[in-house]
Amino acid sequence: MKSTITLFFSLLALLVKAQTTFCPTELSADQLRWLRQFQLQIDQNGLPGKSAVITYVPVKFHIIGNNDGVGYYSITSIMRAFCDLNEDFLPSGLQFYLADSISYINDNDLYAGNSDAIWFRSEDYKKEGAVNVFFHGAGMQWCGVYFPGVDVVFVKNSCQGSNATTLTHELGHFFSLPHTFSGWENGNDPGNWERLDGSNCRNAGDGFCDTKADYVSQRWGCPLAWTLKDPTNTPFKPDSSIYMSYSSDQCQSRFSEEQMAAMRLNVFSRNISTLTADVRALPSPTLLQPSSLAKDISPNAINLVWQKVPGAFAYHVQIARFGDWNYLNYDALVYDTSALIDLFGSWKYAWRVKAITNAYTCGGFGLADTFTTKETLTGLVQTETQKNLSIYPNPSDRNQQLNFIASEMSEIEIRDIEGRLVHSFRLEPKRLLQLSLNKAGLYLVYCKQLDKVSVSRVLVN
Ligand SMILES: [Zn+2]
Repeated sequence: MKSTITLFFSLLALLVKAQTTFCPTELSADQLRWLRQFQLQIDQNGLPGKSAVITYVPVKFHIIGNNDGVGYYSITSIMRAFCDLNEDFLPSGLQFYLADSISYINDNDLYAGNSDAIWFRSEDYKKEGAVNVFFHGAGMQWCGVYFPGVDVVFVKNSCQGSNATTLTHELGHFFSLPHTFSGWENGNDPGNWERLDGSNCRNAGDGFCDTKADYVSQRWGCPLAWTLKDPTNTPFKPDSSIYMSYSSDQCQSRFSEEQMAAMRLNVFSRNISTLTADVRALPSPTLLQPSSLAKDISPNAINLVWQKVPGAFAYHVQIARFGDWNYLNYDALVYDTSALIDLFGSWKYAWRVKAITNAYTCGGFGLADTFTTKETLTGLVQTETQKNLSIYPNPSDRNQQLNFIASEMSEIEIRDIEGRLVHSFRLEPKRLLQLSLNKAGLYLVYCKQLDKVSVSRVLVN
């Protein structure tokens, strides 16, 4: 399927449209044929019944940053988005579970939502047998898109905040749903306008007879500020509650019965669902280390440890300076019961941990604990070489003169690889200082200039 030239060109067309559209999704011909067949069967056999049993669909989340790993969608956001998604889908009988750990990808082009990159590279990251959702950062004007050719969903981070419905809308596309204003996209006139009386509902718009006529292909607040007229001149306003319309996120609250039946059948045809997932709200783990009495610990390589919660899929760990949870210093999903983290400065930090299952991330955190850090000269480790300090020759030989010169007043500590202090001295600006190291090995040179500490490595052979 991927190799067909037709699809490639339709993707190029999409790339052009993508600049101006909220959601440039175009369902594939196969999907539209499948949907048409389903809709005609509703007329012949009635709406298929909904099973009392919930169907669980595996979802794989990918968080994309730029080449430097900047711009990631946060774990706190993804946990909330996943919780919102399951709430939105609950009436459909479909629920999602995390198929796997959350992946991180550093790629400028994918981060920018570049269509070519999505087409050629997203498949490299895909997990087969799951719904693959990529969160990306900037670039294109669109908020979300489903690409049928590669079968992936891309959602822009800024479009999936609290109570946002972009992800729900895109997964509707994933399971074959068109827009309620299908045919009107990009300001086109479909010719065949859906009538308000439902007389042409199978052959116009989205083909669903329980979604109202809708001609609005731009974002709109509810109710629509102007009035539409159908071909019989009947004035009306479209239904803002449907996820597959372009009404604002806060207006949307539902899929229609026919839409939900279509999605259920589409899930079964994909053969990826299961009948079980762990939806339990787990108790909070007991925090073990550092203890709340821990004071003045080094902010580097702090080992956080908590008690195992049986059945936990992962642990959501947050650290916030002064306990302000709106500004997190650390926000990660950890698949073990400890995490080694680097903080900074001499501060009071609060930390808390939530155990999640693979299908339930909505629960709250347990009680937070606190610890205080104290930064010492050797405490702050930066791997970047100090630009204002020159050490040469490097590497050097045992007992060879090592030259130190700095542009600013510096306090120097030389430590061996085990952290033992070997030399410490003050370096006057632009004054050469010489010494020799008589043991071979790797040394770390800590240089403090004003309040900045940096580390250089010196190798002695
Ligand atoms: Zn859409």
